[in-house]
Amino acid sequence: MSGGLELHGDDPARCAFCSRQAVGPCASCRQPVCGDCCTLTEGGAKVWAICLDCDRRGGRSLAGAWRGLLVWLGGILAALAAIVAIVGWLTRR
Ligand SMILES: [Zn+2]
Ligand SMILES: [Zn+2]
Repeated sequence: MSGGLELHGDDPARCAFCSRQAVGPCASCRQPVCGDCCTLTEGGAKVWAICLDCDRRGGRSLAGAWRGLLVWLGGILAALAAIVAIVGWLTRR
């Protein structure tokens, strides 16, 4: 008798959102996701595959964080330029 449950030991990882075969983990929460349940987000130089949950939660904030960083750096550069201008104006007198 060889009845009973057939266990698939090497069953590939299943998508966390549907029951299809996952193609890879989410870059943010590491949940296995399939190609249909993830979105590609460009975060700087790298393209990330993130699940729908993370896309809803923080997918946009990833790009927003980069934009915030650029604004922050721009602010510092503007402040430095202002200091240089003030010092130059003071030394010229
Ligand atoms: Zn899926
Ligand atoms: Zn995720």
